[in-house]
Amino acid sequence: MKATMPAITYQHLSLEDADWTLNSILDLIVEGTWDWNGQTGEVLRSPGWFRMLGYAVGEFGNNVFTWENVIHPDDYARVMRNFELFSRGTTNDYCIDYRCKKADGSYLWITDRALAVGRDDDGQATRIIGAHLDIHARKVAQLELIEQNRLLQAGNLTLEKRLRKKAEELERRNRELQEKVAQIEHISNTDALTRIANRKKFEEELIKEKSRADRYKHPLSMAIFDIDHFKQINDTYGHKTGDGVLEHLSAFVNQHIRDIDLFARWGGEEFVLIFPDISLEGAVGAANKLRQLISEQEMMPGLTVTCSFGVTEYHPGDSIDQLFARIDNALYMAKNAGRNRVELLTPEQGHA
Ligand code: GH3
Ligand code: MG
Ligand code: MG
Repeated sequence: MKATMPAITYQHLSLEDADWTLNSILDLIVEGTWDWNGQTGEVLRSPGWFRMLGYAVGEFGNNVFTWENVIHPDDYARVMRNFELFSRGTTNDYCIDYRCKKADGSYLWITDRALAVGRDDDGQATRIIGAHLDIHARKVAQLELIEQNRLLQAGNLTLEKRLRKKAEELERRNRELQEKVAQIEHISNTDALTRIANRKKFEEELIKEKSRADRYKHPLSMAIFDIDHFKQINDTYGHKTGDGVLEHLSAFVNQHIRDIDLFARWGGEEFVLIFPDISLEGAVGAANKLRQLISEQEMMPGLTVTCSFGVTEYHPGDSIDQLFARIDNALYMAKNAGRNRVELLTPEQGHA
């Protein structure tokens, strides 16, 4: 049996007819074709190639310069290298994207694909047929995406950098603030003239020491002392000298007490001391030692002072007011008994 003929076949009456069909099909499926003859240097281009770039069909000569002249300067070196590798036979693939100049001066992205239909014995191409495909829209969209991505990443980086800077700035401010707080705290706890603890700090510490004594059943004592006849010093030597005495006396006492003792200016020429872990006897001893040392020390050139002390010991359950009442009374007793003395009041005496 005879084989059935395909339903549709191309029937060409002549060679021209066949060429016409071929060119029409090529025109339909690809924007432009080129056919390079290595021996003559001639390049034939399809009318689609000219149309794709907006030129009049056949406007340029049938040589490689027509092609080279439309390649974007930035793509030129890359395109030439690709062509050389392929024509020399180093590579067998020819597929490259680049930009071609259009009649209006703008550039069109194309994909250029080619096939070596003839090579000599050295592998050098003697004839290459290629096709140019318009990929402009896709390429531009892709490049835009890449650029957007780059911007986004750059934006992220700068944002990160900015955030890091902000965090560092915040940390620095925080440190400064903490230093300021510490300074303010120091100022609020310190007597301006003598630079020892002030009354507020003393009261806070006394509350703490009272609870510590309660918690550990440790003894706790305190003392007050007042400079004798201080008014006379002011009157005789002037207020400035009086100030100097207060400053030097404070520094001096500070040097002669334990680190854990708290020394504060109660006001005017009156000072207070907390002796943690010390019972009444020890506190009286410490006060007497201080009284003695103070009386022997020049507080200003050629100027000595004496102090009167009142001492007591904390009794569990004592209020702050009770403690102060006892040391005040003891101080009063010391003044009355002739000054430059230490007097004490026991908790029992205080309650009496
Ligand atoms: P007494 O022995 O009874 O304590 O006599 P006194 O003169 O020390 O007592 P009084 O309370 O009469 O006087 C205390 C004086 O201390 C009066 C006041 O001018 C002075 N004084 C208080 N604070 C300061 C100060 O900061 N600087 C100076 N220079 N003098 C002060
Ligand atoms: Mg006084
Ligand atoms: Mg006094």
